[in-house]
Amino acid sequence: MKSTTVSFIKKLINENAHTPFYFYELELLEKTLKSITENAGKYGYEVHYALKANSNDIILKHISKHLPGADCVSGNEVKKAIETGFDAQKVVFAGVGKSDREIDYALDQDIFCFNCESLQELEVINQRAALKNKTANIALRINPGVNANTHHYITTGLEENKFGINIWELPAVLLILKSLPNLKIIGLHFHIGSQITDLQPFRSLCLKVNEIQEWFDSQHIHLEHINVGGGLGVDYHEPDSAAMPDFAAYFKLFNDFLRLKPNQKLHFELGRAIVAQCGILISQVLYVKQGVKTRFAILDAGMTELIRPALYQSYHKIENISAASDGNGFLYDVVGPICESSDCFGKAVPLPETKRGDIIAIRSTGAYGEVMASQYNLREIAPSCFMPFSE
Ligand SMILES: *Cc1c(COP(=O)(O)O)cnc(C)c1O
Repeated sequence: MKSTTVSFIKKLINENAHTPFYFYELELLEKTLKSITENAGKYGYEVHYALKANSNDIILKHISKHLPGADCVSGNEVKKAIETGFDAQKVVFAGVGKSDREIDYALDQDIFCFNCESLQELEVINQRAALKNKTANIALRINPGVNANTHHYITTGLEENKFGINIWELPAVLLILKSLPNLKIIGLHFHIGSQITDLQPFRSLCLKVNEIQEWFDSQHIHLEHINVGGGLGVDYHEPDSAAMPDFAAYFKLFNDFLRLKPNQKLHFELGRAIVAQCGILISQVLYVKQGVKTRFAILDAGMTELIRPALYQSYHKIENISAASDGNGFLYDVVGPICESSDCFGKAVPLPETKRGDIIAIRSTGAYGEVMASQYNLREIAPSCFMPFSE
């Protein structure tokens, strides 16, 4: 971690900031956003920010200045996006279970597009739009059958997943669409999973999209846009030396392999890749306990502040920023205070000798951290702090 960041955090705690708290480096967020707009801009691609990764108001207000488009998966996310500066006409609304109320709200806001995930959903959106005398723009979320080779809980592009419409259902979908006058199909949507660090699955996705486009061509259906979703991963092992994913390579891959039709626009929905690395969960050691074989460092943060390790065995780099050096340490099981055995941030984590009161930084927590906070054990929701930057 940068020494300026370490001093800033120590100063906050000296000034009685209570741990745990979510800490965000806005400078890295800005750099990341600039890299995205620069690299996506080369090809005229449009990036929507996936609010579900982090919906902290201050973070959202920063992002909406660079990326006016948002990807939402609930009515409240649509509302929050508009409130924090995203452009309603650039909001896409996905999700397998949109309720009637959520659909009505999104129709009232005239959002860009509903990404539809089932035949029945098409019928319901048509019905709700008809009641308002509106036409809803829709994209079909197609399940491309591409394996993202990521954790099975965050793989979404396979037939066995609950997401999307299967390719073999498409003829039936087109038949149904003909009988739904309040829907206008404007695009196709795909999202194959999350935390994808090897670009190969995205290449497979491009090839699949090309095939599917040929089929739509044969049906004489023109689509204004293709949306390839998000899923670009980050390097949880190297939050400093690899603070940003290789956006240049990512967007270039789509330019190289995805064949767009004339006047067709390519859209993306990135979440994690934008916000993961700018967030750090800051906690303090409450107790150090010697077990039979292991030493436990018991933190004041737990799965209530960061559930990813408990939910999908995910790795986060853990640092003791109070200890003078990294040398001559021990292996610690770094655990939280919650009454669940899965409340563990890391097993056999090498740390310098660690004592009560030491400040522990859990890195790369900007995505799927604060948004998944819970009050289990009647804990309080941890606050957030920001490290500003000069422009
Ligand atoms: C979760 C999600 C995203 C964002 O995924 P990341 O891995 O955070 O980039 C994009 N689109 C859809 C439909 C999603 O469900």
